[in-house]
Amino acid sequence: MKVAIIGAGIGGLTLALALHRAGIEAEVYEASEQIRPLGVGINLLPHATAELTGLGLGPALGEIGVQTAALAYYNRFGQRIWHEPRGLAAGYPVPQYSVHRGEFQMLLHQAAVERLGAHRIHTGLALESVTLTGSTLMDPGSEPAVFSLRRRSDDTLVEASADVLVGADGIHSAVRRSFYPVGDAPRFSRRLLWRGVTDAAPYLDGQTMFMAGHQDQKFVCYPISEQLRREGRSRINWIAELRVPGTEDDTPPKSDWNKRVDKSVFADSFADWRWDWIDIPAVIAGAQAIYEFPMVDKDPLPGWTRGRVTLLGDAAHPMYPIGSNGSAQAIMDARALTDALVQFKDPSMALREYEADRLPRTAGIVLRNRMNGPEQVMQLAHQRAPQGFDDIESVVPQAELAAIALRYKQLAGFDPAAVARAAAGGAKA
Ligand SMILES: Cc1cc2nc3c(=O)[nH]c(=O)nc-3n(C[C@H](O)[C@H](O)[C@H](O)COP(=O)(O)OP(=O)(O)OC[C@H]3O[C@@H](n4cnc5c(N)ncnc54)[C@H](O)[C@@H]3O)c2cc1C
Repeated sequence: MKVAIIGAGIGGLTLALALHRAGIEAEVYEASEQIRPLGVGINLLPHATAELTGLGLGPALGEIGVQTAALAYYNRFGQRIWHEPRGLAAGYPVPQYSVHRGEFQMLLHQAAVERLGAHRIHTGLALESVTLTGSTLMDPGSEPAVFSLRRRSDDTLVEASADVLVGADGIHSAVRRSFYPVGDAPRFSRRLLWRGVTDAAPYLDGQTMFMAGHQDQKFVCYPISEQLRREGRSRINWIAELRVPGTEDDTPPKSDWNKRVDKSVFADSFADWRWDWIDIPAVIAGAQAIYEFPMVDKDPLPGWTRGRVTLLGDAAHPMYPIGSNGSAQAIMDARALTDALVQFKDPSMALREYEADRLPRTAGIVLRNRMNGPEQVMQLAHQRAPQGFDDIESVVPQAELAAIALRYKQLAGFDPAAVARAAAGGAKA
C-alpha cells in the first residue's frame, strides 16, 4: 500500500514516520520550496510525547525541548489561581515538552529523510485538486486516489495517484476545500494573538508555563530552549491576546503565521502587568520579532473522508490555541490512522474507522476550547473577583478548579491514567 501525504507539517511528518514504522510506504508532498524552522513555541502534551517516544524521537526531543514541570494560571494582577505539576512531575511516564515549533518540525523532517529517504519527501509541490471517486455507500472507495500538484519552480501540473491520500495541509487545507468548496471559512473569535520569543533571565523555576488574565485579555509564557535553560537563561515564548471589535460579517483577518507587526499595536494594554516574579512589558520589549494571528477555528465537520481520501491535523479540526492541543491532536491522528491502516486491509474501511475514532474526540475539543477549555478557571476568577482576591479558595474552591482541569485532560486524551495505559500497552490514549 502507498499513502500520499499532503503537507510536511507536524501532522504530515509524524504520519510518515508512523507509517514507515508500520511497514507502509509513504510519500510526502509539501508546498514550500524548502522546509525551514518557522513559527514560535508549541507544547507537546504527554500523550503526544508518548507517541513520539514510540517513534524513537524521545532523546532528540529531550535535547531541544524544555520539560514543562508545571502549569499555572494567574489573574491580571499576578495573583495565582491554580497551579498543577506537569509531565514527569505529575506522574506521567513521559515528559511534556515546550519546544520551538520550527526546531521540532526540522527534527521530524530529518528523521523522515533518514528513514524514508529524501526521495520520498517532495518540496515545492502544492496540491491543486483531488478527483473524488468512490464515496457512495455502494462504492465506498475501490479506486486509488487521483490528484494533481502544482510544481512551484516551473508552474506546471503534475498528476499522481496513491492507494490513500491524506490532507495534512493545515488550516487552509486544499484537500478539505475539495470536499467542502463553500461555507468552510475560519470562524473568528474576535481575539487577536501577538506572539514573540524573548531571551531573558528565567522566571519562576525556568520550566513553568503560565497564563494570566481572562478571556478578553491574556498573556501566556513558556520557555522553549533546553540549551539556554542549561546555561541558566530562558528563551521565553510568549503570546499576548486581546479581544477586538468585530467586523460586520465577522470575517477574520487572513491567518498568516508569519505576519509581522510592531508592539505598539497591543503593548499599552499590558503596561502595568509588572509583578515581583515577571515584568511583562520587558518581555514584550525584548522580542526581536512579533507576529500577529487571529484566533480562529472552524466548525467540526460532518465527515473527513471521501473514498480513499481523508484529513488529518489542522486540516481536519483547526481549534483555538487553548489547552496546548493543536500539534498533540495531529500526532494522535497520525497514530490512529496508522493503526487503522494496519488493521483493515480495505483502505476505505480503514479511513472510515479512523474518522469514527478521531472525529468525535477532536470535535469535542474544538467546542470545549470555544468555552475556554481548561482556562475557564481564569474566567471564573475574573467574573467572581474582577478586582483580585485575598484568598482564591473563597472565590473558586480548589475542588472546582481541579474538576475543570481533570475534565479537560480526559476530553483531550491526556489524563494520567490513559497516558500510562498507552505507554505501557501501546493502546491509544
Ligand atoms: C509556518 C507555520 C508556523 C506555525 N507556527 C506556529 C506557532 O508558532 N505556534 C503554534 O502553536 N502553532 C504554529 N503553527 C501551527 C501548528 O504547527 C499546527 O497547529 C499543528 O502543529 C498541527 O499541524 P499540521 O501538520 O496539521 O498543520 P501545519 O503545521 O499547519 O502544516 C501544514 C503543512 O502543509 C503545507 N501545505 C499547505 N497547503 C499545502 C498544499 N496545497 N500542498 C502541499 N502542502 C501544503 C504547509 O506549508 C505546512 O507545511 C504553525 C504552522 C505553520 C505552517
